[in-house]
Amino acid sequence: MIWAIGIDDTDYHEGGCTTWQANQLHNILISCGAKSIQRRLVRLWPFAVRRTRGNAAIALIMDISSDIQNECINAINTWFTKLVNDLKNNDVAKHARPGLIICKHEQFDESVYWNCVKSEYTDINKIVNDPSVIHYLTSDLGDDGLIGAAASISWKPSPESTFEAIAWRHISKCGSPRNIPQNSTNILENLHPNTFMNRDPTYDRGLISPRTPCPVLFGIRGWNYVDTLNALQDMLKLDWNEDIVDYAIHISNQCSDDHLEGIIEATVLDIPIRNRGGHIDLNILTLSGVIKLISFKEGGILNRKIGELLPGDKIHVLGLISPEGELHVERLKRVFSSPGNLIRPNCSCGGHLKSTGKSAQLKCKLCKNIVSSYWLSSRRISHDWVEPPSSNRRHLSTPVIRM
Ligand SMILES: [Zn+2]
Repeated sequence: MIWAIGIDDTDYHEGGCTTWQANQLHNILISCGAKSIQRRLVRLWPFAVRRTRGNAAIALIMDISSDIQNECINAINTWFTKLVNDLKNNDVAKHARPGLIICKHEQFDESVYWNCVKSEYTDINKIVNDPSVIHYLTSDLGDDGLIGAAASISWKPSPESTFEAIAWRHISKCGSPRNIPQNSTNILENLHPNTFMNRDPTYDRGLISPRTPCPVLFGIRGWNYVDTLNALQDMLKLDWNEDIVDYAIHISNQCSDDHLEGIIEATVLDIPIRNRGGHIDLNILTLSGVIKLISFKEGGILNRKIGELLPGDKIHVLGLISPEGELHVERLKRVFSSPGNLIRPNCSCGGHLKSTGKSAQLKCKLCKNIVSSYWLSSRRISHDWVEPPSSNRRHLSTPVIRM
């Protein structure tokens, strides 16, 4: 029988990592005789109250024959008890509230994923009473992890789903600096064009290794399985100056835009207001009324383009409505530009026409010609979609090049 095993909320500020924990459990189940079918890395609603950075849950899809099912359940229970004890000893801030759920593969309610990727979802009763549930585990730390765990097995990959290969370092290395081979980014960019998010061109900074004290040594994101695997194999050959203890490829909802409701068409109402720190507020008029658009300094070119908007501009926006009802912009396109600031026309001789001070008259400084007063407006250029630099993009957001 195929089991979908969902795991979430095992990480905390000082360490831990759900991908690593899930890999440990995966290997325990393999040693019990289970067969690995797929691993899924599922990102959830970016505004979730208890998210850690990235808000990711893992699903292991495994073939567990009936003769080893009891042994596997026992192994899972033992692993989970140890995980909870480790967290009690190490998670000082008591952040992690791990949850695990096992369901019959592809029979769990798909709506749970959509609720969890677009909103704060809390209906644990509905999750544990789903008819496909085989087993679930929580602890006295709290049962929040069950929600992400359930969402991860509720998600169904599609032909457009992306992949992430992850290589892990030894747990004792957590927190120490990673020795990222200098040529790694070039190899990926030049030899593996179907990988992405390798470098942030704005800051010319490699993105394959995280900066957090977690057991992930590096991660390679790719548009398909084969190219992700080939890139991973090239990375494994490089000198990382430490042991790579394990690696795996996950199929993922990254770059899916699943968290978004679709393109919002709007007209700019005000002049953009730049706040301390460079964030911008802007009121826009949409079909559902006036919304405050919020743009962050980290958005880079996106933030700059929003700063250039003028009342009357027509824009297309992709973004998330925050719990406060504000639109956090992720991508924007200016489809119509209202006329820019008014300027005086030039005289037919080429000289500058200036107001004479008398009403309704302009005078040329060169030829002294006098014409009736009027203004011209300047032409502004619209632009296609713009987005933040890759290091400041949400994992869930589709990059502009894939739109
Ligand atoms: Zn003139």
